[in-house]
Amino acid sequence: MSLDVLVVGGGNAALCAALMAREAGASVLLLESSPREWRGGNSQHTRNLRCMHDSPQDVLIDAYPEEEYWQDLLKVTGGICDEKLARLAIRASSTCRNWMRKHGVRFQPSLSGTLHLSRTNAFFMGGGKALVNAYYRSAQAMGVQVRYNAKVDSIELDGGRFLAARIGSERIEARACVLAAGGFESNLEWMREAWGQINGEWVADNFLIRGTRYNMGTLLKFMIDAGADAIGDPTQAHMAAIDARAPLYDGGICTRVDSVSLGIMVNNKAERFYDEGEDFWPKRYAIWGRLIAYQPGQTGYSIIDSKAIGRFMPPVFPGVKADTLPELASQLGLDQQTFMRTVNDYNAACRVGTFDHTQLDDCHTEGLALPKTHWARPIDTPPFYAYALRPGITFTYLGLKVNDQSAVHFGGAPSPNLFVAGEMMAGNVLGKGYTAGVGMTIGTAFGRIAGTQAALSAATAQAAAPASTHGA
Ligand SMILES: Cc1cc2nc3c(=O)[nH]c(=O)nc-3n(C[C@H](O)[C@H](O)[C@H](O)COP(=O)(O)OP(=O)(O)OC[C@H]3O[C@@H](n4cnc5c(N)ncnc54)[C@H](O)[C@@H]3O)c2cc1C
Repeated sequence: MSLDVLVVGGGNAALCAALMAREAGASVLLLESSPREWRGGNSQHTRNLRCMHDSPQDVLIDAYPEEEYWQDLLKVTGGICDEKLARLAIRASSTCRNWMRKHGVRFQPSLSGTLHLSRTNAFFMGGGKALVNAYYRSAQAMGVQVRYNAKVDSIELDGGRFLAARIGSERIEARACVLAAGGFESNLEWMREAWGQINGEWVADNFLIRGTRYNMGTLLKFMIDAGADAIGDPTQAHMAAIDARAPLYDGGICTRVDSVSLGIMVNNKAERFYDEGEDFWPKRYAIWGRLIAYQPGQTGYSIIDSKAIGRFMPPVFPGVKADTLPELASQLGLDQQTFMRTVNDYNAACRVGTFDHTQLDDCHTEGLALPKTHWARPIDTPPFYAYALRPGITFTYLGLKVNDQSAVHFGGAPSPNLFVAGEMMAGNVLGKGYTAGVGMTIGTAFGRIAGTQAALSAATAQAAAPASTHGA
């Protein structure tokens, strides 16, 4: 056996693992199931990384201390989060950027129109595609071997020890392995099975996948069936509300519609169903896909008036526009009477103080069974706009349980040479909910840990092997 570390996957977590293992002196082969032009999984669609910092740092303003980052995670996950692993990732986010720069990643301040992120999130210049390309360039320059169209179907194990990966009839041995093959969000059948029927509807049939079509969960399923310890609920996922006209796969960031907190959201019965002003949009955008999933037809409509225009990132596709609210309702095919009652009740309940979309302001409703707690202003200034939205799955949270060395576990015991990173283990930190940029924090932190540990494990195995097998 001549290969030290096999990395399965081709996104951020896999690349971080491959680069760290190679830096530690290991020989590394990376297997990406997609063709070269689609390499990089969901990571190619990203824009930023959430970073802890105690004082202003290059593209980041003010401070975002560990405790605040942790409290943000605690809040969005409702406590379904391993604190030790979360803090490990948070701390790693304060030091990883120099290493990322070394491998060609460049940062820029947050984009204008991106709400509330200039303090907390470092943006990748050129987006995730540029990040992924930089890592591939660096990996290849360092001698990491890369194979595309290389979908691993199964793993050969001896108890909890990795022996080899299989692509069809081909068998690839290595001393250690890192699994970084994403979640199972692209697998429509598995999504259907996980969500089942709600009120007689197969809800997942109306989901759109925001990212890659290559995250089929093949190895996640294989590992769980093979006895690896799993963590998380298969229906939990990062789910944004996206334009209902988005393509089934790879619509990416431009299909997101960020107008929700500036107006009201109604379902296809023309009724509101959740507090649109509960918290800042970066802490709430990832729950709206899920909220819409539970509505009839899995459709929601974000309703705004002209006061909201210019206060959110303009969507790529124009919304429905009308000079009157009844006309807007009829263009959307909503019952006009109910729609007008919903809007009129909301408008009458608004208590407008000092509107400030950058603060949890004092504009709220009073007397509604379902309040809007911030940014509540009457929808009264034509023209009026609406966007039809569907659940957009970003990534699933069901994953493999890990420790602080990112080792896959079997019956509570860590594997000596099989590690996992990225979406495949994000559920250890994200039981539910999301805060923008933490996906890349988790993938970068645990990708780097997994790569280091895999190289160490391979070196230990090499040293322990009988002299005759050295270098064989
Ligand atoms: C539109 C969009 C925008 C996003 N924006 C952000 C953002 O700005 N900030 C942020 O933090 N997070 C963001 N995310 C989430 C982020 O993409 C993920 O958290 C992160 O990229 C996960 O990295 P990963 O390496 O685990 O998975 P991926 O990048 O998805 O990589 C998985 C890889 O595994 C490969 N693969 C799958 N199965 C196999 C197999 N059997 N054999 C071989 N290879 C296989 C896939 O082809 C893919 O290359 C976004 C996601 C989407 C979809």
